[in-house]
Amino acid sequence: MTGEAPQTVEDEIRRRIEADGPMPFEAYMAACLGAEEAGYYQTRDPFGEAGDFVTAPEISGMFGEMCGLYLAHMYELSGKPADAVVAELGPGRGTLMRDMRHAWSALMPELAAAPVHLVETSPVLRSIQNGTIGESAPVTWHADTDELVAGIEGPLFGIANEFFDALPDAPQDGMVAELCPQADLVMAALARSVSARGGAMLVIDYGRDGNPGDSVQAVAAHKPVDLFHEPGQADLSHWVDFAALRRAAETQGARLIGPVALGRFLMRIGLAMRAEQAGAHAGPEERRALLAAIDRLTSPAQMGEVFKVALLVPAGTGRPPGFETEEPR
Ligand code: SAH
Repeated sequence: MTGEAPQTVEDEIRRRIEADGPMPFEAYMAACLGAEEAGYYQTRDPFGEAGDFVTAPEISGMFGEMCGLYLAHMYELSGKPADAVVAELGPGRGTLMRDMRHAWSALMPELAAAPVHLVETSPVLRSIQNGTIGESAPVTWHADTDELVAGIEGPLFGIANEFFDALPDAPQDGMVAELCPQADLVMAALARSVSARGGAMLVIDYGRDGNPGDSVQAVAAHKPVDLFHEPGQADLSHWVDFAALRRAAETQGARLIGPVALGRFLMRIGLAMRAEQAGAHAGPEERRALLAAIDRLTSPAQMGEVFKVALLVPAGTGRPPGFETEEPR
């Protein structure tokens, strides 16, 4: 080949298999999602009705506001450290960070003034994030979590929504069990930081408290497709194993509380009240939209049950709001 024609992910995968033989699934998933210039997230904005899938922050601004209020509460419990750093892993369009900052600007100006650190590999999404929040906040982007943790000094208050499910999975024994070594490393890096300097990180993802096994899925235009369908053109994801994340946190002397189901969590921390407030001065159309959003986020038939929430905090006891009645571990 002489020219610089952009390679597709499929070309690249074929070339690697011809050169090196069979490729582990983990490497396949990493190439589909992250291959430079051609990978799924590198080349597009996949979110929303016109894209491939819809995430919670894109359903309603109330999601980000509730997460923001939650982190503000944790910040207050930590004694409002002046050197706090705000972080998000995999911020997508930047909608969640924008909505959290919106809540802070009214109720916790200290967090609204904190520097914002984002972990994002996609140049396309970095530029969209810059448009969404770059004007109102000093933003620093990092290529990975190690770089984030090395680049900050204060306690970390932040969130990862649908980030861990996109990290390459390593199915074992014909997909009977799945391991995600990268997820464990990311969690260990966050936990090291939180255990040494304090802070609180919300982790929200679809998954369960244990190894899911055989959960890898591909989605394009809101429909399931084959895992090997047009590599790099479909979203690949897998259920997150929260028990593995908890072990990774504990090895660093931190604590991962939960997981609890998203619907239960949001209701416990007052989503319905928030919607009532928002609906008080709204017309019927807007009120219907608020109710539809709540149903989508909390009903077990939709996102309320398969999505889970966990909270990374320094070692200790006690259960913060939203996690109260879960069995202590
Ligand atoms: N949190 C957003 C987007 C979730 S999609 C929302 O809820 O709408 C996953 C996000 O993680 C995207 O921004 C994607 O580009 C980013 N991402 C995926 N794999 C990554 C990796 N290995 N390192 C850094 N960012 C990654």
